[in-house]
Amino acid sequence: MKETFYNLKMVFKYGKGYNKYFVRFTLATLVGIVFNVIVPIFTAKQIVYLTNNQFEQLIYASIIVFVILFINSIKMAFITHNTARYFRGTTKNIQNELGKEMLKMELSDIDKNPSGAFIQRLTSDTNNISHVVTKGEGFLTNILSKVGIFITIFIINKWVFLYYFIASIVLLIFGILKANKANEKDRVFLKSYDKVTSLTGELVRGSRDIKMLNFEKSFMKKFNTEVDEMSEKMFDFRKTMAIYDFIIFTINDIFVIGVILLLIALIKNNMIETAMAVVLFSYKKEVLENILGSISGLLTLIKEFNLSCERVFEILGNKKYKKEVFGKESIKNIKGNIEFRDVSFSYGSNLVLDKLNLKIKAGSTVGIIGKSGAGKTTIFNLICKLYNTSSGKITLDSKSLDKLDKDSIRGNITIISQNPYIFNMSIKENMQLIKDNVTDEEIKEACRIACLDDFIESLPDKYDTVIGEGGVNLSGGQRQRLAIARAFIQKTKIILFDEATSALDNETQSKIQRAIDNLKGEYTILIIAHRLSTIVNCDKIMIIDNGKMQAEGTHEDLLKSNKEYKKLCKTELVKK
Ligand code: ADP
Repeated sequence: MKETFYNLKMVFKYGKGYNKYFVRFTLATLVGIVFNVIVPIFTAKQIVYLTNNQFEQLIYASIIVFVILFINSIKMAFITHNTARYFRGTTKNIQNELGKEMLKMELSDIDKNPSGAFIQRLTSDTNNISHVVTKGEGFLTNILSKVGIFITIFIINKWVFLYYFIASIVLLIFGILKANKANEKDRVFLKSYDKVTSLTGELVRGSRDIKMLNFEKSFMKKFNTEVDEMSEKMFDFRKTMAIYDFIIFTINDIFVIGVILLLIALIKNNMIETAMAVVLFSYKKEVLENILGSISGLLTLIKEFNLSCERVFEILGNKKYKKEVFGKESIKNIKGNIEFRDVSFSYGSNLVLDKLNLKIKAGSTVGIIGKSGAGKTTIFNLICKLYNTSSGKITLDSKSLDKLDKDSIRGNITIISQNPYIFNMSIKENMQLIKDNVTDEEIKEACRIACLDDFIESLPDKYDTVIGEGGVNLSGGQRQRLAIARAFIQKTKIILFDEATSALDNETQSKIQRAIDNLKGEYTILIIAHRLSTIVNCDKIMIIDNGKMQAEGTHEDLLKSNKEYKKLCKTELVKK
């Protein structure tokens, strides 16, 4: 109960701007409840007047019932309109808020969870919340409306009232048991559903690799296993519900037989007239089946509501997922100096950087080389504060990264990753995401610097060409160059470039090289290089090994001082 009230409070908080619709349909519902209480009393009167041949009174009672039912129909349309508005607005607000909060989450927490878990929360769980609020109110109306029937029964005969009352309580207890079980099974089912959603996403996004690596069969085997498991959980849920329904309906049938026996006994003992007994018997459907259906429906809905709220609010609140924390200091005109002092970092128990020290001067171009898994990309992630250091300190222009606000860090640094994500929009719109008032000229200039202009001009729709999700319609080299153009639009002082490991053809590679050369001098550039030719001209080269700095210096320095570097140069550079 407490949980439900807390969740309702939260939903109203997020329903800001739309709660007026909630108030409107609640008021209309209350009016409806009053009507629903009155109608059965007048209906009972109609039957009494009919059986007693009191036709004049019967006509009056019928007119009253007609007027009430007519107003009721108008009220229903009013409720439908307002619930729809409330539903749309609240869902929209929660989804917006959820999207925002997800982007504030620490990457380490996002890594730990399947993407499906987040997608489900953004889609079905948020829908569920508003849906349950509106649908629940319908059930509640139904239940409260039955008060009228109970009052009528009480007036007619107290024994029958007592019988129906006890029967409703017994059925209610079974309704509660059913709702609790439904919640338990639903929780298990939703976990499985999250997994299937994740895998469906991977099926779509990974379809190229699935085809290329020719593992459709094994992928589909895994997919089928997960879908089977989900269906199994669904089946288990439905089966349990069916068992409960069977028990509840059987008890209900027994109660119906009981009421017949009770009415016969009352008639035989002259405690009730036959006409009244017929009226009381006709209420059995309302007070047993309908009220039971509404109560167990409402309870199941409340459980569903709480479950969806729990899943959504654990993201909106600060309960389960950690949010990124930034400081308050800001850098107005960044120069671009970066320093690592004794920086250590681990992914879980895997120590990746071990007391690493490095200094990068503003405006310099620095190459980073090292074996795969040495920790090079992790250095980039830490500079952008995508992850936090385990110990040690990173500074930007001598200011601790931990004390800086988000814009001073992310607004001044761009990572051009090996496989940058390009959004499923036109080239122009991809640029507008970075800066909404970017001019066509600026876009063209950025693409020229990124050596991408010739390619774009050759496309049928030029800058309006849509690129496909994740940039699928572009080659790896084109994607990277588009990311360089994006960085140029963003005009961040620091550019972190992770060179693609995949073999790019010489022309593409030299275009990327030229694009980077175009940025040199004005920007602080760090390049993780997989080909020495990319970095021989850098101001400094750092060799990272096992999360430590093995050596650093210019190409010439390292040739003299580092045997391994010399050997590497011989094999790589001579080849070219
Ligand atoms: P490099 O860029 O030098 O190839 P990385 O910095 O990407 O190396 O990775 C260093 C180590 O950290 C590797 O052992 C890798 O498996 C691990 N690692 C990288 N990213 C993650 C992650 N998101 N979660 C857990 N471990 C990771």
